[in-house]
This record gives sequence, C-alpha cells and structure tokens, in this order.
Amino acid sequence: METKYACDGCGECCRTYLVVASESDADREPRIRAVGERLEAPEGTPANRYRLIPRSEQGSCLFLGAGNRCSIYDTRPRTCRQFPAGSEMCQDVRRFAGLPMLLPYVGITVNGRDVGHGAVV
Ligand code: SF4
Ligand code: SF4
Repeated sequence: METKYACDGCGECCRTYLVVASESDADREPRIRAVGERLEAPEGTPANRYRLIPRSEQGSCLFLGAGNRCSIYDTRPRTCRQFPAGSEMCQDVRRFAGLPMLLPYVGITVNGRDVGHGAVV
C-alpha cells in the first residue's frame, strides 16, 4: 500500500518559495525568458537564471493566474515539476497560510495500474 498526496492547487508554494528557472527551462518555455528577472553571475548560473517572483514585487510567481492556475503548467520549470505535494515544504506553507494539512490518500492499483484512491481517515 502506497501513501500518496494529491495537490489541491492551493497555490501557496507558488507564492512563498523562491521560484527560479534554468536556461533549459527558458528554452522550453520562452515566456520565462521574456518576463523572468534575469540573474547574472555570480548569483545567476545556467541552472538558476530567472527569478519568477521578482524582487521588486515579492508577491506570487509571475505565471500564477486566476484560481491559482499555472499559466505555463505544461512547460513549467523543472523545480515546479519536482515539488512534492504533501512534503514538509508543502505542509509548511499551507500552515503559514492557515490552510489545513494536505491529507494522504491510499492509491488503489489493479495489475500495477493506478485506478483510483480512497481517503485515509
Ligand atoms: S503548497 Fe502543496 S498543495 Fe498547495 S499548490 Fe503547492 S504542492 Fe499543491
Ligand atoms: S511556474 Fe507555475 S507551478 Fe511554477 S511557481 Fe510559477 S505558477 Fe507555480
């Protein structure tokens, strides 16, 4: 039995953490290069080249849209793809925002395929 977490789209990670994209992220999604704050050496490196929460704004990621939707979801930076729902970082920002903890669910698999889930109570 594997415990999983499903992101509920609260968007707090996109408002709280320093979101930085790489040159290869920007090659895949040109809007990152167009609107991100470019970081030069020594702070900036190819892996950390564009801030998506500009220092001047200190708000949310430039790509966070209405309803907490990521406007570049399919081509979002690797760091966003790897951010794990239900992780300590996820739960921390939810707590700071006054949101309840993200609850785990139990994945139901048939012949190794994920076919649904049931809430853990
Ligand atoms: S903080 Fe967690 S639940 Fe909220 S959007 Fe980010 S990953 Fe999803
Ligand atoms: S690029 Fe999308 S997923 Fe990543 S922080 Fe911005 S809004 Fe969130």
